[in-house]
Amino acid sequence: MSIVVDPVGTARRTAVPADRPVPPRADLPSDADARWLRRAVDLAAANVAQGGGPFGAVVVADGVEVAVGQNRVTRDLDPTAHAEVQAIRAACRAAGTFALDGMTLYTSCEPCPMCLAASLWARLDRVVFAADRHDASRGGFDDSAFYELLARDRSTWDRTRVQELRLPGCTRPFEAWLAQAARTAY
Ligand SMILES: [Zn+2]
Repeated sequence: MSIVVDPVGTARRTAVPADRPVPPRADLPSDADARWLRRAVDLAAANVAQGGGPFGAVVVADGVEVAVGQNRVTRDLDPTAHAEVQAIRAACRAAGTFALDGMTLYTSCEPCPMCLAASLWARLDRVVFAADRHDASRGGFDDSAFYELLARDRSTWDRTRVQELRLPGCTRPFEAWLAQAARTAY
């Protein structure tokens, strides 16, 4: 890796062409977003009062609440039952689909890597969060540590070793999938 010394920031200024389209204002968080976020934070606080984790989430489509989620990890003995995952699952059930295009996920805290990936898989239009990973870390949650772990080479991980053992025929399921004319893509 080489380090380019650029004391006047010329590279940075020229890296973005002048004619690059500016994102529309409407795409930035709005007052309506703040109201939905408050709902997510209220769900999180209510969950703590009921013995659950301090996380809440809401899925919204065209200004209408589709579903909510609260952290259920300890209640359901399910480490994947984060508020965002719960909300995505409930929204999919409510909408009768596995793709939440056009919808927004509001969450009381920045999604962990799992919930962020779930949001991508759900094809959500937007994810809007209130507290961040550092707030979560101060609350005793691993979000920040997991982000740092994922940015590192897996061979350096000090937990949950991930190993590849490439079996002969391991791509057979994909070949079967691609040969399946009636497959439902997702
Ligand atoms: Zn999560």
